[in-house]
Amino acid sequence: MRILVVEDEHRIANSIKKGLQLEKYAVDLAYTGTDGYDLAVTEEYDLILLDLMLPGMDGIQICMKLRQKQIHTPILMLTAKSQTDDKIEGLDSGADDYLTKPFSFEELLARIRALIRRPPNSLSNILTIGDISLNTLNFEVKRQNKPITLSGKEFSLLEYLMRHPGQIIKKDQIINHVWDYESNILPNTVEVYIKKLRQKIDNPFPKQKPLIHTVRGFGYKISN
Ligand code: CA
Repeated sequence: MRILVVEDEHRIANSIKKGLQLEKYAVDLAYTGTDGYDLAVTEEYDLILLDLMLPGMDGIQICMKLRQKQIHTPILMLTAKSQTDDKIEGLDSGADDYLTKPFSFEELLARIRALIRRPPNSLSNILTIGDISLNTLNFEVKRQNKPITLSGKEFSLLEYLMRHPGQIIKKDQIINHVWDYESNILPNTVEVYIKKLRQKIDNPFPKQKPLIHTVRGFGYKISN
């Protein structure tokens, strides 16, 4: 899951980025409204964290322009102000939720989780396909009830696939949603990670049907 953080206070932006990376999100930063808008229209994000007061374009302008362009990425607006009017204005402009600074990181995470899982998944923080389960809160992955230890990127890749069960996911999509803008992606990076993931979730369970499928010329899918 990849998040764009648009926040002009560098210290806050950087600490949000660090915190989100620890939670296994891929994170891009923009320090101005214009940069944030440009990234939001050119890259694919699962969520945009948008400060209200920004140099260049403010959060409300960005929100309105994105929605006009039919970009429906969930937007969580951040603001230092707490007046109700601002909240209403923010939500009217197309933001999905609102958080007033200062906020606790736990609160931020809870709101992000709520927005990211809103479309396809139920209220649960646990994604399940067949006999594999992935807990997005404590990062536990189990197959046949056996715990599986994954690296951060392996977890993110599995989570992304599991959020689209049975769908063919192109390599580009995987790169866009699992890695951030600054990551060094080599042509075979996705293959390498798919292989690592298979070695952990499929190969140790030879009696079970493999979960990860290669669809030649198209991409990958997970299904049981
Ligand atoms: Ca600001």
